[in-house]
Amino acid sequence: MSATKVLIALDQGTTSSRAVVFDLQGHILSVANEEFPQIFPQPGWVEHDPKQILRTQISSLQRAVRRAGIHAENILGIGITNQRETTLLWDRETGECVHNAIVWQCRRTAPEVEKLVSAGWRDAIVRKTGLVPDAYFSGTKLRWLLENLKLRERAERGELCFGTVDSFLAWNLCSGHPHVTDATNAGRTMLFNLEKQDWDEELLHVLDIPRACLPRVVDSTSIVGTLDPEILGVPVPVAAMAGDQHASLFGQACFTQGMVKNTYGTGCFMLMNAGGQVPRSKGGLLSTMAWRMGGQPTYALEGSVFMGGATIQWLRDQLQIIKTAPESEAIATSVPDTGGVYLVPAFTGLGAPWWDMYSRGTLVGMTRGTGRAEIVRAALESIAFQSADLLDTMASDCGFRPDNLRVDGGASANGFLMQFQADIMGIPVIRPRVLETTALGAALLAGVGVGVFGSAEETAALWQKDLTFEPQMPEQKRADLLGGWHRAVERALGWARKG
Ligand code: ADP
Repeated sequence: MSATKVLIALDQGTTSSRAVVFDLQGHILSVANEEFPQIFPQPGWVEHDPKQILRTQISSLQRAVRRAGIHAENILGIGITNQRETTLLWDRETGECVHNAIVWQCRRTAPEVEKLVSAGWRDAIVRKTGLVPDAYFSGTKLRWLLENLKLRERAERGELCFGTVDSFLAWNLCSGHPHVTDATNAGRTMLFNLEKQDWDEELLHVLDIPRACLPRVVDSTSIVGTLDPEILGVPVPVAAMAGDQHASLFGQACFTQGMVKNTYGTGCFMLMNAGGQVPRSKGGLLSTMAWRMGGQPTYALEGSVFMGGATIQWLRDQLQIIKTAPESEAIATSVPDTGGVYLVPAFTGLGAPWWDMYSRGTLVGMTRGTGRAEIVRAALESIAFQSADLLDTMASDCGFRPDNLRVDGGASANGFLMQFQADIMGIPVIRPRVLETTALGAALLAGVGVGVFGSAEETAALWQKDLTFEPQMPEQKRADLLGGWHRAVERALGWARKG
């Protein structure tokens, strides 16, 4: 058994629960991961079984600790990071959930959101919460539960607890069942006032949500309780909570205003540290929390690309022109360019800066010479073009261009994509040594929470770069490619609009 002191991240994701053990230098000592079932009760509806979330999270924690070969006494703190917006409601007395978790992807409350918007609440929601009204966020999901299960009176009497996954885990893993959520997760409910740093009375009233069922909002680095000793044999402090993208921004050490990270997973999530004032986007980006420490909020701008790595999955599973995602790199680099071909993967519409749910996938510019390699290359390039559009929107919202982009996520392993990203954005793209930045961020936040680190900045030294992709493309070529991309996007816009 090793006497190394460690910090542990619990990374509760949409398809699996993970636990990662880090030493105090930010090196990974062990990882354990367990998938759980996705439940689709109706088209467009997505749920998780709360018991499975809990079971897989506890068992991966126990396995990761065993694998690391450490004494549980040497765990200085645990940080929770989680799939965001997913909504749970449970009985304060028994802890039993009244329903499955309603997952962020679930569209069941789209009509509720339309009603809110028709009633003129859009601007107030944007101003107060930083979010664009959407079924994605927790507020209307909670309202749906209270309404459809006829639970509003019980909620008013304080008999029920609402929580996102961070809150649910803290309640279930800690002795004494604290009912808390951190500010980054609260900021994804569409009920949280970013400026006041509290639940918004007016929005609670509009959505008819009793305050009595809401968790207490705490700092992202706060000791919310101690782990039930049944789990690891000792009471370890649970010392941080943050939504996954916020933890990743922290794990990428984006501590100064203007620093940006992009995570290339199924979708891409780009967040920029916006400092201590709520940013206001003109380009349709979301305003959100970066984190909150010592009662001080740090804000962020957030944009997402719906089809990131998922475009590569589409090449593999639908078109079947590649066998594995990694081979897309060699295929793309087997040709010097796409020969003027652009793929706009607007399969589910386009987000910022276009915000057009009626756009659809489009492949343009093909000639008799176009083959598989050109299409694969165009697919990878589309991920970079969409991310470049997001960065441009952020740059015009904040009035300056970031110096570089820090990257992580599965598709950031693709060297061609990263080089093309640097070329098309015209700034260096930096890939860190630890690509598990979400887990690293949660562990480092816990380190701040227990006082291993005196401040966020103290953890910055633990972030280490692996590779920098320097922009090499001549300016004219870059402008031509971007021009071609935007012409292709125009072809995709509005395609599915009827009439
Ligand atoms: P998530 O957390 O959203 O499940 P990951 O960070 O695990 O995503 O990344 C998986 C995604 O990255 C998949 O969509 C896959 O197609 C893509 N991907 C993985 N490796 C590569 C690669 N070498 N090149 C391009 N795409 C890749």
